[in-house]
Amino acid sequence: MNINVDAAAMRRINRSTVLQLLRDNRTTSRIDIAQITGLNKATVSYIVDELIKEQLVEEIGYGSSSGGRKPVLIKFNANAAYAIGIDIQISQMTTIVTNARGDIIYKRNRRIRFHEEETTYKAHMLDVIQSEVDTATLSVPKSPYGITGIGIALPGIVNFKTGYVHYLPNVQIANWDFLYDIQKKISIPVYIDNDANCGAWCEFSRRNNRLKNLIHLHVGIGIGAGLILDGQIYRGKDGLAGEFGHMTISAMGLECACGNYGCFEEYASERSLVRYIRESGGEKPMIADDSTLIDHLLYEAQHDNRVYIRAFHTLGQYLGIGIANIVNGLNPDQVTIGGAISRAATFILPEVERVLHHRAILANKAIDLTIATNDAAAIGASLLVIDRTLFAMPTDADITT
Ligand SMILES: [Zn+2]
Repeated sequence: MNINVDAAAMRRINRSTVLQLLRDNRTTSRIDIAQITGLNKATVSYIVDELIKEQLVEEIGYGSSSGGRKPVLIKFNANAAYAIGIDIQISQMTTIVTNARGDIIYKRNRRIRFHEEETTYKAHMLDVIQSEVDTATLSVPKSPYGITGIGIALPGIVNFKTGYVHYLPNVQIANWDFLYDIQKKISIPVYIDNDANCGAWCEFSRRNNRLKNLIHLHVGIGIGAGLILDGQIYRGKDGLAGEFGHMTISAMGLECACGNYGCFEEYASERSLVRYIRESGGEKPMIADDSTLIDHLLYEAQHDNRVYIRAFHTLGQYLGIGIANIVNGLNPDQVTIGGAISRAATFILPEVERVLHHRAILANKAIDLTIATNDAAAIGASLLVIDRTLFAMPTDADITT
């Protein structure tokens, strides 16, 4: 494979590499950057000087020397810019503001009223986003770059390049020019992505790019996966990569909303818990509000309700089967679990690990499996904005193969 990168793209890639390194390390020096990145000293000095002019980097004094001149220490100015991250689920949304490092400085949860009528629901969702953005904007301190953009994580199949929503399965919305509609109401640039991709980007960024391959599972009403492969979000030919919620884990299994039978998410998502409880002879949980389903189920399990504990265990076993399939196929460095189900980790994780030990092969048995950061999707949405704007990260267009 020949990779052709033009000179302007190369400069952008080098700048982005240096900026990432500075963001990931509290303090460093020009000489350290040159050593770590392999860029020559003159290039590093030029880039750092530019970044200082752009107020993205500051000199903060001298470090120690093992002989010769003491190096000037530099650090990333995390408060040079901010972004708004929004995670939209069916009946609620979380809005955060982060600085350029992804540290949360503001957070608010808000209900979205689900409405059967599509036009009404869409209009309501757009109104709520506008009002939440207006409120969040008030919390942003003065800074050189202000709010660089708004990242919105959506639970479905979306085109991150065009802002087009192909399908939001749980609300049955298809073919929506979301970006066009939202930018009529909000003047700040908006970027959208799938919620599992956003969660994966948060988890990957939080590890300071120390690993290359990470799978993030968003387990809520459905199951989606965000794949970081070789340090990049892997999207596949049509942007459909990561739909592991619809891999078959039971050949003669239950019918799924996608039309297939025996899909993973019928056995390991939030909605399967209610079925397990009923199958064990328990009453169907009566919940007035969808967003509190997991809290209610967890409360019962924590108070030793055996039916509920068994339901969590069953879910954990199926989750383990699905994760074993995924890690056997991709052999990642790490798997993270986010979404509502992650709150029940104490009941679920031991079962997942037990099943993984049986079903995963070789080193995959001991895969590093952790619960994701709270609000991973919202943080990831915000960081994706920062990376695309402030960091001007190289895009597919920069590299032709
Ligand atoms: Zn399915």
